[in-house]
Amino acid sequence: RQLPDQRVRFRTAIDDMATVSTERRRSSERPMRFTRFANTTDSDPALVEVRTQAQAWVTARPAEPASPRLNDRAGIDEVVARGRAGGTDWRALPARTRVAILCRAGDELESRRAELVTAMAAEGGKTVGEADPEVSEAVDFARWYAERSLDLDPEQGRLTTDGARFAPHTLTLITPPWNFPVAIPAGGMLAALAAGSGVIVKPASAVPRCTEIVVEALHAAGVPEGALQVVRLADRELGRELVAHPEIDGVVLTGSAETAEQFVEWRRGRAGGHGVIGETSGKNAMIITPSADYDLAVIDLVKSAFGHAGQKCSAASLAILVGDVADSERFRRQLVDAVQSLRVGQPQDLGVGMGPVIAPPEGKLQRALTCLESGEEWWVEPEQLDDSGRLWSPGVRAWVQPGSWFHLTECFGPVLGLMSATDLDAAIRLQNQVAYGLTGGLHSLDDQEIEHWLDRVHVGNAYVNRHTTGAIVRRQPFGGWKASAVGAGAKAGGWDYLGQLGAWSSAGRPA
Ligand code: GLU
Repeated sequence: RQLPDQRVRFRTAIDDMATVSTERRRSSERPMRFTRFANTTDSDPALVEVRTQAQAWVTARPAEPASPRLNDRAGIDEVVARGRAGGTDWRALPARTRVAILCRAGDELESRRAELVTAMAAEGGKTVGEADPEVSEAVDFARWYAERSLDLDPEQGRLTTDGARFAPHTLTLITPPWNFPVAIPAGGMLAALAAGSGVIVKPASAVPRCTEIVVEALHAAGVPEGALQVVRLADRELGRELVAHPEIDGVVLTGSAETAEQFVEWRRGRAGGHGVIGETSGKNAMIITPSADYDLAVIDLVKSAFGHAGQKCSAASLAILVGDVADSERFRRQLVDAVQSLRVGQPQDLGVGMGPVIAPPEGKLQRALTCLESGEEWWVEPEQLDDSGRLWSPGVRAWVQPGSWFHLTECFGPVLGLMSATDLDAAIRLQNQVAYGLTGGLHSLDDQEIEHWLDRVHVGNAYVNRHTTGAIVRRQPFGGWKASAVGAGAKAGGWDYLGQLGAWSSAGRPA
C-alpha cells in the first residue's frame, strides 16, 4: 500500500527520558529500574512543581458527561441534518479564517491540559506519564493540520498548480477508541475540519468526558456548534444507523480490524465507495540483535510493551531475540528486573508506572494472561492484584513458537512474548508473518543490519533504536499496512492525510 521510501526512518534513541529516571549506562550490569515520579527526595524546584501539579490533576474528579445521548433514528437524522448545514457554512468561510480558528484550537487544548489529564486518568486509567504527552499530540494535530489545510484551498493552494480542486466531505463521522481518548478524537476532528468538512464525533463509551473536553476547546476557539457536534448513543443498533447514514460522506475509525470490517459492511453499496478510513489492529514485534545496546533495548521494550498496560495498537507485544541475545543471562536479568520494578496501581498515585486495564480481561486478553502454550514458560508471571479484576502485574512469556496463537493474535494488554531467531532474516520472517503491519522495532547498532531491516519489514511505522509507541505528529506519521489499515491509508499526522477527506476534480479548459 505504501512505497518503501514513505516509511518512517528514525534513529532517535530516547526522546522522552524525562519521564523515566533510569540511567543509561552502556555495558552496565546495573539492574534497570523504572521509578517514574517516585523519587520524593528530589528537591529540584521545577520537578517538585511538576509533581505537585500532576498530583492535583489526577486526584481531581472530572465533571459528568454533558453531551446529548440519542435514543432513536429521528434524533440521528436531526443531528445529521444540522451537521450538513454546519459543514456547508464552515466550508464557505475563507480558508484563512478556518486556519486561525484551528490554530486557536491548539491554544485552547493546551489551556485545558490539566482537565484533560484528569479525565484521562479517571475515565481511562492513564498515568500522567502517558496522558500528558497525549495532550501535546492533540495540540500538534491542531497546528499541523491547520497549516496543511492551506494546500487544499484553491486560493492558497500549493497542491493545486495542476488545476485539481478539492471538494471536502460535507459531513464526516469520527469514531475514536478508548485507549487514546484525547489525541485520536482530536486528530480526527481537526483533520476533517481542516479539510473543510463538518464533523460528528461519537466518543468511545468508556471515556466520553475526555472527548467532550476536546470538543469544548474547539468550540471555544471558534468552531461553530453546527460544524462540530458530539453525540452519545443509547445502543449499538443506533451506532449502525449512524455509521450507515446515507448523509454521512466519510467515517474516520480507529478500532479493531473486526469493527472496521463491520463499518465497511454497513456502508457497502454506496456510490463512490464506503468512505471508511481507519487505523486498526496490530501485533507488533521488536527485534533485538546482538549488536544492540541492551540497556537501551530493555528500556524501549518495556515502554513499548507495558505503556498504558499494553493497550495501544502500536504496543510491542513480541520481542524477537536474535542469536546470542536469546541466550544472554544478562539480557534476561535486565529485562526481568525492569518488568518486575514497574509499579502497578491507580494513576492517582504518581509513583505508578503502569495503570489498570480498561475492563476486567476476557477472551483473548484473559487467555494471554493466564494460559501458556506448548513450549512456553513464564519469565515473569502476571498476577491479578485486586478484586476489580482490572489491575494486573505485567507478564513475560518465553519462548513463543512460530505460528502459534500468541505469535499471531493481538491481545491488547500487559503481556510480552519472547521469540528467538537464529539470524536477522529469520527474525524478519517472524515479524512479517502476522496479518497486521502497524509498527515494528529494531534495536541494533549495526548500520547494515538497520538498512537490511528497513528494506524488508512490512509495517507502516518502522522504528530503529526507539520504542514502538508514541508516534510524533508530522515527524512520524502514523498508520499501518496489511490488516492494520482500511481505506486510502494516508497516515495520521502526515502530509497527505487531509486530501482523503473529500474528492478531487481536475478543471479542464480549452488551451
Ligand atoms: N498513535 C499511537 C502511538 O503511536 C497509537 C494509537 C493507537 O493505539 O491506536 O502509539
